[in-house]
Amino acid sequence: MAFDYDLFVIGAGSGGVRAARMASQHGAKVAVAEEYRVGGTCVIRGCVPKKLFVYASHFSETFEDAAGFGWTVPKPTFDWQTLLANKDAEIDRLNGIYIRNLENSGVEIFQERAVLEDANTVRLVTSGRTVSARYILIATGAAPFVPELPGAEFAITSNEAFHLEKLPEHVTVVGGGYIAVEFAGIFHGLGVETSLFYRGEQILRGFDDDLRYGLADELRKKGLDLRVHTSVTSIEKSGGTYRVHLEDGTTHETGLVMYATGRNPNTAGLGLMSAGVELDRNGAVVVDAHSKSSVDNIYAVGDVTDRVALTPIAIREGAAFAETVFNDNAMAVDHRCIATAVFSQPELGTVGLTEAEARAEFGDVDIYKSSFRTMKHTLSGRDEKMIMKLIVEPSSDKVLGCHIMGPDAGEMAQVLGIAVRMGATKAQFDATVAVHPTAAEELVTMREKWTPPEAAAAE
Ligand code: NDP
Repeated sequence: MAFDYDLFVIGAGSGGVRAARMASQHGAKVAVAEEYRVGGTCVIRGCVPKKLFVYASHFSETFEDAAGFGWTVPKPTFDWQTLLANKDAEIDRLNGIYIRNLENSGVEIFQERAVLEDANTVRLVTSGRTVSARYILIATGAAPFVPELPGAEFAITSNEAFHLEKLPEHVTVVGGGYIAVEFAGIFHGLGVETSLFYRGEQILRGFDDDLRYGLADELRKKGLDLRVHTSVTSIEKSGGTYRVHLEDGTTHETGLVMYATGRNPNTAGLGLMSAGVELDRNGAVVVDAHSKSSVDNIYAVGDVTDRVALTPIAIREGAAFAETVFNDNAMAVDHRCIATAVFSQPELGTVGLTEAEARAEFGDVDIYKSSFRTMKHTLSGRDEKMIMKLIVEPSSDKVLGCHIMGPDAGEMAQVLGIAVRMGATKAQFDATVAVHPTAAEELVTMREKWTPPEAAAAE
């Protein structure tokens, strides 16, 4: 049977674009449809603009820290409109590059929504055109989820945070994951009084406890109003501000409420049911190790599959799909031991198992940890700690996990990720000569095993 395309990709984000370009390079005739902007969440309203905002928000502390080094800085002022305009210009530039890269790879772009009519037919919603494809790749990503509660319509999400007309004097961020913590830091650094409300025991569930508690301490020291065990029951608008009602019966006045309570896969209304594609109970496309759905010619990559919702993973899954289907080279992405960073302030960088995970899997593990003030802050006077932690399996001496809080923790996690994935031992870390003076040298100079205070007291 002849099809219009060998591959039709729905969604031009990180995963979809990589898959489309690689499939085309392997000789396939490829089209991609995108209903918003080519580049997807990461480029348009995620990682990239977020990181630019993080840079912007760091300057307030940098100006303060300069005094200890002899600088006199006139009272700095900040212009949100300048940041927005410069950020938008950069996103436009990247959007242009993504479009050009697709075109140069011979991929046809449809700038409209696409839905499935059946397993081989795609309908382009605006133009009404119908096309057929041998393979279909669902790469539609995910969208912010706001729980149902009275007044939920008053809350913004990260999507809107990138386009606020002006910064409020006070903001309340709800959630305790990557996005909540990163945006709370951005707002606070830009001079907005910030509250962060998390429903559970401690923010960043799933990260190593030393980092979670260490970061919570640092956020509070900076003056951020972090409240745990705090749940919102409703939001009321009163004039230009909002009254947030909390589960304990108290209320909280704020200028803006932002929800960052997770993201849901974008599968609604895509026609996946009519094509017979199985979804899980969160609406994610169920796929096998090669990203194949329950229908033989339909695949899915990236956040829409709800495996590991990170850009580099979507890119890898897109590449593995193209290799598997169009280059006769079956590839599966290894979702274990992924280095990751939270661009909080201070930053977190982590790879491998947390202490709790390592104890659950290996029983007894050796812990090496260090908490110190960085050299820079000896002169700046800033009361901020850096944390380094290694988790080692005693019998093999392998480093199972590495967790860092402090400046450039994400950069360090990237490099450490290589060693940890290679199965480096603590002895190999120790045999590596330190780069002096750096904070990272601590990673190769920690010799004392950490003893829990109760055990130390009993000795
Ligand atoms: P996360 O899943 O990381 O966190 C969601 C947070 O919201 C959790 O703290 C969760 O609490 C809380 N939550 C969930 N439901 C509710 C509810 N009904 N009421 C109150 N709180 C609730 O999602 P994010 O939105 O922060 O980020 C989405 C994904 O995007 C991340 O998982 C990550 O993969 C990716 N990302 C990566 C970044 C990076 O690499 N730096 C940056 C930003 C995003 P609980 O813990 O109790 O479940």
